[in-house]
Amino acid sequence: MDDWRVVQGRFERERVGHWGSIFTVANGYFGSRGVDEECLSGDPSTYVAGSFTEDDMGVDTLPNTPNWLVVELEVEGDRFDIEKAELLEYRREYDLREGVVYRDLKFRGPGGKVVRVRSERFVSQDDYHLGVLRYCVSPVNFSGRMTLRTGFDCDARFRGVNYLEIVGKGGFEDGVFVHSETTESRIGIAEAAATAFSGGEAEKRIVESGAKILVEYSFEAEKGREYGLDKFVSIFTSRDEGGDITEQARAGAVRAREKGYDSLKSAHISRWGELWKECDIKIEGDSPAQLAIRFCMFHLISASHPDDDRVSLGAKLLSGDFYRHHVFWDTDLFMLPFFSATLPGRASNMAMYRYRTLDGARRKAAKSGHKGACYAWESSDTGDEVSPEKWIDDDGVEHLITCWKQEIHSTCDVAMAMWEYYVTTGDRPFLFEKCFEILVETARFWVSRAEQDENGDLLSIRGVTGPDENHQDVDNSAYTNYLAKWNILKALEVAQIIKDEETGLYEKMMKRLRLSGEEMQGMRRAAEAIKVPYDEEKGTFIQFDGFEDLKPVGPKEAVERVADERGYQPLQVVKQADVIMLMYLFRERFSRAVMKASWDYYVPKTAHNSSLSACTHSIVASILGMRKEAYRYFKMSAEADLGAVRPDTEHGLHGAAMGGTWKAVVFGFAGVIFLEEKVKVDPSLPEGWERLQIPLKWRGASFVLDIGKSSFRVINNSRVTNLYIESGTTEYVVGPQGRETIKAARRSLTG
Ligand code: BGC
Repeated sequence: MDDWRVVQGRFERERVGHWGSIFTVANGYFGSRGVDEECLSGDPSTYVAGSFTEDDMGVDTLPNTPNWLVVELEVEGDRFDIEKAELLEYRREYDLREGVVYRDLKFRGPGGKVVRVRSERFVSQDDYHLGVLRYCVSPVNFSGRMTLRTGFDCDARFRGVNYLEIVGKGGFEDGVFVHSETTESRIGIAEAAATAFSGGEAEKRIVESGAKILVEYSFEAEKGREYGLDKFVSIFTSRDEGGDITEQARAGAVRAREKGYDSLKSAHISRWGELWKECDIKIEGDSPAQLAIRFCMFHLISASHPDDDRVSLGAKLLSGDFYRHHVFWDTDLFMLPFFSATLPGRASNMAMYRYRTLDGARRKAAKSGHKGACYAWESSDTGDEVSPEKWIDDDGVEHLITCWKQEIHSTCDVAMAMWEYYVTTGDRPFLFEKCFEILVETARFWVSRAEQDENGDLLSIRGVTGPDENHQDVDNSAYTNYLAKWNILKALEVAQIIKDEETGLYEKMMKRLRLSGEEMQGMRRAAEAIKVPYDEEKGTFIQFDGFEDLKPVGPKEAVERVADERGYQPLQVVKQADVIMLMYLFRERFSRAVMKASWDYYVPKTAHNSSLSACTHSIVASILGMRKEAYRYFKMSAEADLGAVRPDTEHGLHGAAMGGTWKAVVFGFAGVIFLEEKVKVDPSLPEGWERLQIPLKWRGASFVLDIGKSSFRVINNSRVTNLYIESGTTEYVVGPQGRETIKAARRSLTG
């Protein structure tokens, strides 16, 4: 098994959607689903990050943009349709090291004519406006007339509707262009394609047919010879700086054509080489796991914009329209940790996205009559809540969606993620201003959202939904309340740090945020009073008030009898890691005994009906020394898309599971905990893993953990920065360019 290559060995009509997501090519600026060039029925969407517009339900979405991957091939007048043709060979490979998709096929057309088709495509990491396609044909057993057409198919619908208005399209000397505008937000999107033909003489013309604008090459093909079409696509939007976007796109495409396919491809591959240097995890002894972790990191990076902090990663990355490209807590607590510890520049954009959208969160809080900021459950470009209020099933029946009103844990999740980002990267300026402002505003929200309990001095947070969406509208979710308390106390702690270290800034911030000593005292009182349901006898948290009184039913049995999520409400069936998520987030704080009690109580009740569940369980199992379980959950997460563990990959990849898989390796198997003053490392490899190498970054230090069965090495690659490592109960200082071999200690959590 080549652990850099994802291979599709045959064309599967019924799984065009699944493979379409897997073979997505993207670079954070735009992403295109991996449809075959000649596929007529697959979803050939291309999405441009940040180009949100309202759909006909009034919900923000990224529109589909014209399909630039379309190629029409005719052999003596007969159009090749991959879904109907007699395919003699088919092989598609995603080379993850290079970021290039290769496809090689042979088909037999009418009259027994056999044609070989090779294609390659990539969306450039070197120039993020650029997508490149090479398409080569060769007649195997005949000579005859062939026609190739490529350009744009502008019939780019989202759920049956076009959200782009074409304002201009046409040909230019070197190719074709389309200028469109999103229907509601009026964002301009211009795409241009320059083409080059090789292998012989061809007649060239521009063809408009229906919604397509195409460049056509027609030629006499000789048996055994190969004819190639290179296509260079450049995309610009009115969100970019600069003037005439059609002209920018046209000039970009022409410039790319001048540089040529090979030079663009090698620049792209070398950028991927640099990216892999920062993050590639190497696993010896488990090839499938190796490929899977690379696949996860590859798609996370592909979906992240290198330098635009107005966008972040949607739950489905740029690979599918489910959830309409909205940003969820998935991004903050599942994907961001990967970026913070490998590509901090990109992590900084993601953190800044949350800061930039703080006003939207303020508006959401105000709308519900609360103070401060409540982060949207689903967020697009402004941070306003963009969750749909209903969904329509296949029979046209409308169902109300209300969980977004209650899943306010997104607010403390953002607060926690901003803090974690700071802890890992050491980005002090962000902490002192942006993160502090987020912490204060979110703390204010919790203080105003919490209500006096009728039976005493405690505060309750009522009417919420925790991570476990099987139980909606509950009171005192342990997860939510614990994090809300933490959120408030962290705001106060950071205030104190700023006060101690930068008095001038502290005064400025207090003024700007209109934060008084009195309000801060009130915050502390509230934090102390927020109730977190805990059962002394069980030795663990109670997921929410009344959870214990629900009917205990095994998750498997429940699946058989419950038709939709709401049917779970009276049952003790947990959708995904909830109290277990709390255990993971505060793994430094909770004793092993509490973790074990939580595991024993909740895991048998958990259905893992969300791709966010398995990775968290893997980490907690690692901490508890349950190696087999840790590995089993790791596989579930790692194979979510690649191994089709989740049934819905066709609607887009599972970004949280991808980030979570990285976390399961780094925080689980390697036992890494990033703290402000040191990095804890406490590895325990799954059986069969001989060696695990992980490149990481922590507060300016760049290092590699090289983990073997019984010991590990820390290699500090930084030129000036010391690395402070703790393993077991011993602390080590690894100087710049230094290395240290450490005997692996057994799990050392207290309790
Ligand atoms: C999960 C949420 C998640 C969302 C988007 C839901 O099924 O329960 O936790 O945020 O999907 O991935």
